[in-house]
Amino acid sequence: MERTLIKDLRSKIDQTVELKGWLQVLRDQKKIQFLILRDPTGAAQVAHWKPNNEALAEEIAKLGTESALTITGKVIDNPVVKLNGLEIQLESLIVDNNAESPLPFDPFAETLPTIDYRQDWRYMDLRRPVNNLFFQVETLVELAMREYWTKNNFIEIHTPKLVGAPSESGAELFSLDYFERKAYLAQSPQFYKQMAMASGFERIFEIGPVFRADPSFTSRHMTEFTGVDMEMSWIDSHEDVMASEEQWLNYVYTRVKEQFGDAIKEQFGVDLVIPTLPFPRIPMKEAVEILKSRGWVPADKKGDIDPAGERDIAAYVKEKYNHDFVFLTDWPIGVRPFYHMRKPEDETLTRSFDLIACGLEITTGAQREHRVEVLQKQATEKGLHFEPIQFYLDFFRYGCPPHGGFGLGLARLMMVMLGVGNIRESVFLFRGPTRLIP
Ligand code: ATP
Repeated sequence: MERTLIKDLRSKIDQTVELKGWLQVLRDQKKIQFLILRDPTGAAQVAHWKPNNEALAEEIAKLGTESALTITGKVIDNPVVKLNGLEIQLESLIVDNNAESPLPFDPFAETLPTIDYRQDWRYMDLRRPVNNLFFQVETLVELAMREYWTKNNFIEIHTPKLVGAPSESGAELFSLDYFERKAYLAQSPQFYKQMAMASGFERIFEIGPVFRADPSFTSRHMTEFTGVDMEMSWIDSHEDVMASEEQWLNYVYTRVKEQFGDAIKEQFGVDLVIPTLPFPRIPMKEAVEILKSRGWVPADKKGDIDPAGERDIAAYVKEKYNHDFVFLTDWPIGVRPFYHMRKPEDETLTRSFDLIACGLEITTGAQREHRVEVLQKQATEKGLHFEPIQFYLDFFRYGCPPHGGFGLGLARLMMVMLGVGNIRESVFLFRGPTRLIP
C-alpha cells in the first residue's frame, strides 16, 4: 500500500490507508486506545478497540511516545474528534523503531529545557513542527535567492574552503595541518569572489560554509556558518550593490510570504512584512550623531557601532521611516578591511555598507579597490605583507573591472525573518567554541 500523508486524509474517507509517523500521545483506556500519530504534514487520531485484538492492544500499551510507526486503518469522518474531525480505525501496526522511555526530553512539553540541553538532543528538538517549518522556509529562501540571481545572469561558484592565506583578519583563523605545511579554513570567499571578477564572470554568487575562530558566546555568532555571497562587475559605487541586494531581498520575502505567510503567522506569530524599496540609507557619520542624540555612548573612537547601537538605529528607522531594514553606509577606513574602496571625496571613508535588519547586522558589502597600486598602498597601511596575498594582488594586474559585492549570514537572515532570538535555534546544528557535538 502506498503511504498517505496526514494532510491528505480527508480525501480518503471510508478507505483503508497506510500512515507513517511518530507516536506523539498514547491514551490507553479500559476498552480503547487512542494514538496521536504525527507526520511532517500534521497529526491524526488513531483508535484501537481493544477487544478486537488483545495481542495488538498489549503491544500498543508497551509503546514509548515518539516511536516511529507504520499503521494501517480505515478513515472515518467523525465531527466529534477534535483533530480535523477524522479518526483512523486501527487495522494493523508495525513498530519501525520503538522509542525508549523516558525520552531525553518531551519536545511537546509546555516548558522546554534550556537551549544548551536541547542542542545535545537536537534531533528531538527538530521534531517540533515549528522547527520543521523553519527549514521548509529556509529551503525556499535559498531557492528564491538562486531564482533571483539566475534570472539576472549570475553564475554560481564554489570556492575552496581549504586555503593558504587569510582573507579577513588573522585573529579569527582556524589553522590545520596540511601535509608538510599549515592550511586554514576560509573565513570568507572574498578573494575568490574577486577572482571571478578578474575571470570575466561579471556576476557571481556562492552559498557555502564560512569558518571563524571567534571565541565569543553571543546569540548571533557561530564558528561555522553558511555565508551567502555575491559579487558584481562594472559598478559605479557601492550604491549599485545596495540596489541589487534590496531588490533581491524584496524578491525573497515576496516568495516566502506567498508560500508560507499563513503558516509563519500561525507557528511563529510573525506577520511577515515584505520590505519596500528602496531601503533607508544613513551614512555612518550621521548615524553616530543620531545615536549620540539618543543617549548612546560609542565604545571607542574608531567609528564603529556596537550591537546596542545597531538596535537603537533600527528603532530610529522604524519610528522615522516605518522600515525594518537600513543600510549604514560610508564606514570609516579604520573599521574596514584594506580591500574596501575609499571615497574619492573623503579618503577617511570607504564605499561600504552594512545592512541592519530588525536591529541585527546581516550583511557587510562594499565596492572593492581594483587598482593594484592603490590596493597595495592600502594593504601596507594596514600592516599586511604582500607575500602571502601576492596571488590575490595579481588578480588586479591584467584587466579587472570595477566591482563590489556583499556577504550575508543565512542564519542571521532567518533569525530576522522568523523572529528567532538566538542563532542556535536558527541553524540545523550549532557550532561554537564549546560545541562540536553532535
Ligand atoms: P559581526 O560584526 O556581527 O561579528 P562581521 O562584521 O565579522 O560580523 P562580516 O565579516 O562582515 O561580519 O560577515 C558578513 C556577514 O556574515 C555578517 O553580516 C553576518 O550576517 C554574517 N556573520 C559574520 N560572522 C558571523 C558569525 N560568527 N556567525 C554567524 N554569522 C556571521
